[in-house]
Amino acid sequence: MSRILIRGGTVVSATGSQPLDVLIDGETIVAVLQPGATALGDVAASAQIIEATGKYVIPGGVDAHTHMQLPFGGTEASDTFETGTRAAAWGGTTTIVDFAVQKPGETVQDTLALWHDKAAGRCAVDYGFHQIVGDVNPESLKGMAELVAEGVTSFKLFMAYPGVFYSDDGRILRAMQRSAELGALLMMHAENGIAIDVLVEQSLQRGDTAPYFHGTSRPWQLEEEATHRAIMLAQVTGAPLYVVHVSAKQALEQIATARGNGQNVFGETCPQYLYLSLEEQLGAPGFEGAKWVCSTPLRSRAEGHQDELWRYIRTGDVTSVATDHCPFCMKDQKELGRGDFSKIPNGIGGVEHRMDLMFQGVKDGRISLERWVDVCCTTPARMFGMYPRKGVIAPGADADIVLYDPNGHTSIGVGKTHHMNMDHSAYEGFEVDGHVDTVLSRGRVIVDDGAYLGRAGHGRFVKRELSQNLI
Ligand SMILES: [Zn+2]
Repeated sequence: MSRILIRGGTVVSATGSQPLDVLIDGETIVAVLQPGATALGDVAASAQIIEATGKYVIPGGVDAHTHMQLPFGGTEASDTFETGTRAAAWGGTTTIVDFAVQKPGETVQDTLALWHDKAAGRCAVDYGFHQIVGDVNPESLKGMAELVAEGVTSFKLFMAYPGVFYSDDGRILRAMQRSAELGALLMMHAENGIAIDVLVEQSLQRGDTAPYFHGTSRPWQLEEEATHRAIMLAQVTGAPLYVVHVSAKQALEQIATARGNGQNVFGETCPQYLYLSLEEQLGAPGFEGAKWVCSTPLRSRAEGHQDELWRYIRTGDVTSVATDHCPFCMKDQKELGRGDFSKIPNGIGGVEHRMDLMFQGVKDGRISLERWVDVCCTTPARMFGMYPRKGVIAPGADADIVLYDPNGHTSIGVGKTHHMNMDHSAYEGFEVDGHVDTVLSRGRVIVDDGAYLGRAGHGRFVKRELSQNLI
């Protein structure tokens, strides 16, 4: 087996940073050593050396929220498992957790099998699945146990999108009861979709059809209300609750309160909610704003959501940062909604830029270096039952490692660092500090010094345990 010694770098974990060398044997980290330790004798002597002087050596990123090839709004997300995981690798993310989708009339087992088929043999990095339960019925509830046994230990429901993914409160309650029984994590898209649909209809009737009105017809009150309702239903049932893509500060206040009361409730946010806004992006002239149509929507900067979200990352109430990567091109996809924002496919692509965008938060003094690793790597791994194989640099862990240059620079945009299968970037023109230099996935160098060395099919399915992050 091939041995690699990563030498001279600073290993950053969720709890601290120090100069350490990392020895890899095959696919696994076998030792973390004091710098220059020579006690290894022939083990290290036969190793290939990777010099990491001046760089951070961090666990590979874990993006627990992606949608490769998601069928949505009459089209399909533009990244396949092949292109999307390659872009993830470029950005220092070595594990994704994607969503298998059950729609009414389908079984959870069949749909999971379908998603396995889409991903198998195509991924550049390791991947797991959550299951979207779009039809809560006795069969689905029974099937959830089988999925848990197969390493799919989290289930997502929607309080939004009536007629598509939507579950009413009764169905949510049943799925939560089942989730609590199984010890599985219940993930929630928390927006009041019934009320939103009325506001959307009224907005269109008034002639307010531009992308901006996607945002105004999904006001924060309807995110806060749904978040609160989900928390209460979770409390009644005892289910652990993970609220995905929180964008409103008021929703996070609900989550923080529940956490303060000792409830197993967790908040996720995404870089788009930290950097982009209703006014600047969704409100861009003409149809431009369509690029940033996603749900939950970007929030008003004047209302101060972005600053508050950063604060909640610091306090721990935002437990992890994922991308909700769900890319659609402008051409032929976002364009479906010209003249009617409700027909714009919902989603932003960002799987490639999460590590850089969050490192910028370190540079800006928003979060600590350790918190960066925690919310991007370690806690997502623990939250979704992949620790300590993923999310940590320690003996026995998979050798998923990123050499990150804090003095490097990354220009984001199409024609620059962009490898996602999209004709635009949500972060076009962003100049950020830091750079992903080298990426290892299970001991293989897949990105190095601006070259892609990975291959489709290297990535393997990760059979997950139950959440390791519950209180
Ligand atoms: Zn999503």
